[in-house]
Amino acid sequence: MSFFKDALSIFKKSELVFIERVKESEKVYSFLFSKDQDLTWKPGQHGLFTITHKKIKNGTKPFTVSSTPSEGEVRITTSIGDEPSEFKRALMELEPGMKISMSGPVGSFYLKEDSPALFIATDIGITPFRAIIKQIEEENIGKQFKLLYFNNENVHIYKEDFKNVDVDFITTKEQLMHEINAFTEKNKENGQYFVAGSKEAVNTVVEHLKSNNIAKRNIKKDVFVG
Ligand SMILES: Cc1cc2nc3c(=O)[nH]c(=O)nc-3n(C[C@H](O)[C@H](O)[C@H](O)COP(=O)(O)OP(=O)(O)OC[C@H]3O[C@@H](n4cnc5c(N)ncnc54)[C@H](O)[C@@H]3O)c2cc1C
Repeated sequence: MSFFKDALSIFKKSELVFIERVKESEKVYSFLFSKDQDLTWKPGQHGLFTITHKKIKNGTKPFTVSSTPSEGEVRITTSIGDEPSEFKRALMELEPGMKISMSGPVGSFYLKEDSPALFIATDIGITPFRAIIKQIEEENIGKQFKLLYFNNENVHIYKEDFKNVDVDFITTKEQLMHEINAFTEKNKENGQYFVAGSKEAVNTVVEHLKSNNIAKRNIKKDVFVG
């Protein structure tokens, strides 16, 4: 039932009003939008966002909602490179009061069970964990978790949001695998594993988890394709 409910929510379309842009690091920005009261999502889910202030090719892209509903705004966070796509240029043009639209929320990358969890983020794959961790703090869920946040340039955003969190800011693949091993060794099949980032990074981590005998059913993936 919940699967159908989740799948049908793709047909829900919301108009969002741009509030402000926040610089998270040299190349990463968050875009904040106000939301109607009835728009809600499970922290970790994503939406399909459409540029509406001008016509562009590929005007719709998926982005994780990196805020929780109780923060009262929809936040998306993305990197803007030296030669951004037309979509990202259009995002950078937004002025307060301008609108975009969001379809969704969609996806099953959210908390379900109580068991201890390892959250593994590579680069911009940190976005769902900001929302999930905020939810754990806001709702006082008392969930045991550890966050491994990998970025090989030592650029880690949202540090302020993670100040009360068991987190390792990681810069090498060796250190990442070492920390994963320590967690799998301690929690064995009782652990849940959430992995988010680019397809290549997620596949590498998932293969490593499987080689540590972690069952597929205990691994949740959020692959940022596109
Ligand atoms: C479920 C889901 C959730 C997502 N959540 C987020 C999120 O929270 N934040 C976020 O930033 N993205 C997220 N994405 C990815 C997002 O939808 C875009 O695909 C991504 O940000 C790239 O944006 P862009 O195509 O506008 O290109 P830009 O990032 O502006 O890059 C410009 C061009 O460079 C090329 N390029 C960019 N990245 C690569 C690459 N890795 N390899 C090869 N070529 C590349 C492409 O040709 C692209 O057109 C998510 C995707 C999914 C499916």
